[in-house]
Amino acid sequence: MATRENKRYTGFVYRQTPIKEKDAMVSCIGEEGFFSFFARGVMNPASKDFAVTQEGSYGEFELNVSTQDALRLKEGRWIASYRKDGDYEATFALQALFEILSRAVPEEDSSTLYPFVEAFLKALKQGGDPYTLLAILLAKTLMVEGYGPTIDSCAVCGKKEDIVAFSPEAGGLLCREDAETMGVAKMPVSQLRAYRAVFLVPPEKFGTFTLPKLDLLPILSLLGAMVEGSVGVSLKSLATILRYQ
Ligand SMILES: [Zn+2]
Repeated sequence: MATRENKRYTGFVYRQTPIKEKDAMVSCIGEEGFFSFFARGVMNPASKDFAVTQEGSYGEFELNVSTQDALRLKEGRWIASYRKDGDYEATFALQALFEILSRAVPEEDSSTLYPFVEAFLKALKQGGDPYTLLAILLAKTLMVEGYGPTIDSCAVCGKKEDIVAFSPEAGGLLCREDAETMGVAKMPVSQLRAYRAVFLVPPEKFGTFTLPKLDLLPILSLLGAMVEGSVGVSLKSLATILRYQ
């Protein structure tokens, strides 16, 4: 008989893929990054592990490790849910998090991103502005993956004064002269501040500010374009958010 050991993981479920009628593959992110496991019978609402394996749940998972390194759920312990059913902005932001984790984060970056994911979830639960939090999360995802733009000076000449625009193509902020040379339109100061803020804000402050919708929507759209340009993934959840504004 194959020797088996149990491992205990704690994490957040971002994807549940049904297999056959009642089984599922469950994908999570925790302090050590991504992990996933096979869970028998959890699509059945009567299963004791039904709640903990839902997308948006956070829990502790006791997993059997088989000799093929495949993980199977032995027992789960539900700790919290980050779903906010009925709050459509929070729901859309959470869907976007699921998609970012499913499609736009390589395995090797997942443990570095985790503290930001945790901060996003906690701030969302405590009533933080969903789309501001999503903009922050997109910015942190880009940074963790090495695509962080220059946000403390002009990306072309390094000048710190007279910054008037932001351009993903240029790799960050632009001074007046370089913006004119490159034909990039000037942006409102509040929007430039917002770009800096979403890249710079530390995890413990995620929930403390709300960007005005007027600044936020162009930022979300641009950050989405940056993810597409750098990771090659066009986020459908983000397109949905922008369409409904
Ligand atoms: Zn410049």
